[in-house]
Amino acid sequence: MACVADLRLAGIGMTSARTRDRLVQRLRDQGITNLQVLDRIRNVPRHIFVDEALGSRAYEDTALPIGFGQTISQPYIVARMTEALLEGGAVDNVLEVGTGCGYQTSVLAPLVAHVNTIERIEPLLSRAKERLKELGIRNVRFRHGDGTLGWKAHAPFDGILVAAAPLTVPEALLKQLRVGGRLIVPVGPEGEQQLVRFTRREQRMEREVLGPVAFVPLLGGIA
Ligand code: SAH
Repeated sequence: MACVADLRLAGIGMTSARTRDRLVQRLRDQGITNLQVLDRIRNVPRHIFVDEALGSRAYEDTALPIGFGQTISQPYIVARMTEALLEGGAVDNVLEVGTGCGYQTSVLAPLVAHVNTIERIEPLLSRAKERLKELGIRNVRFRHGDGTLGWKAHAPFDGILVAAAPLTVPEALLKQLRVGGRLIVPVGPEGEQQLVRFTRREQRMEREVLGPVAFVPLLGGIA
């Protein structure tokens, strides 16, 4: 017999499997092709990451408020960033900057060996921890801190994913990438941000612009 917790994760009505399938189809139509990523979008119950009152909108392809002036990322963007991170070789050790509610973390974690995630707003981090525990995701290390400094103790990273936009890319993040590693980051002021992928090569840093995006700003310090 299904218990209440199972029903909460499975969803009903506007949070049901059929609603999620529609979201996945929409992301396919927009050019997301990585099947593992699409599968995660289908299986991660996005409704448990937002306020209950917003649950019926959880599978719309839109950012939604999560408190503290922050938002849960739009599913298309989560899928695009994850796909861009996984493209081009194995990714074991990942750094995520800007845990937020933990939705992006939950999409990513089962596709890699380890995720190290940093969030500057403590209450968001504790809530994210609880959600991931509820989903049985165990390969994530959490830190309350300033992600612009990276996480030296666990560097170098095969991949770094930044969920908030700096005006210029923090040096520490580029330094903590291993050769062949990829940094996916939205860069620029509000209204003019571009999603960029940096790939560390032996002698240089490769830079590809993936397209325009809208993120909250990456801030220094902790809250
Ligand atoms: N991807 C997340 C949403 C991230 S919103 C999700 O799926 O929910 C961006 C997050 O980055 C916010 O929670 C914000 O507090 C955090 N953030 C901004 N600057 C930061 C910094 N310097 N270090 C760590 N986190 C930061």
